[in-house]
Amino acid sequence: MDCIFCKIIEGEIPSYKLYEDDNVLAFLDITQGTKGHTLIIPKKHVRNVYELDEETTLNVFKVVPKIARALKDAFNPIGLNIINNNDKPLQSVFHFHIHLIPRYEDDGMTLNTINHYGEYNPEYFESLVKTIKEQIKSAK
Ligand code: 5GP
Ligand code: ZN
Repeated sequence: MDCIFCKIIEGEIPSYKLYEDDNVLAFLDITQGTKGHTLIIPKKHVRNVYELDEETTLNVFKVVPKIARALKDAFNPIGLNIINNNDKPLQSVFHFHIHLIPRYEDDGMTLNTINHYGEYNPEYFESLVKTIKEQIKSAK
């Protein structure tokens, strides 16, 4: 398969591996957005969150606190962001991955959210709930 992360898992492409078990690999992001920027991926090739099954999800997410604590203890960041991009506009590698991005004073990293607080009425919130709940399906 022509997937850069599958090639990293197979060792066909070198990487700086931090943690590995039967199902999961954690390694340094090549761009090092901040010191310690890490990616956690399932060994099973899954395009993104929409394709994740429950078992793979558990396997990947149970590793997240372990690596987060290691980064905290290693570099003493002031905080840490967990990011996951799915399709547009930001996903560039189509093998599910979680970014762990330790944060430091004046690190230049921008992850801004937009605040629409106060712009919507209760009916709007209720309509969102109704629309989304209709689409929540039982786990396969
Ligand atoms: P995305 O934009 O899909 O959420 O993130 C993909 C990430 O994969 C980027 O942060 C990018 O730096 C990283 N990446 C892409 N190619 C490689 C590679 O060959 N090795 C490593 N270690 N990271 C990579
Ligand atoms: Zn892959």
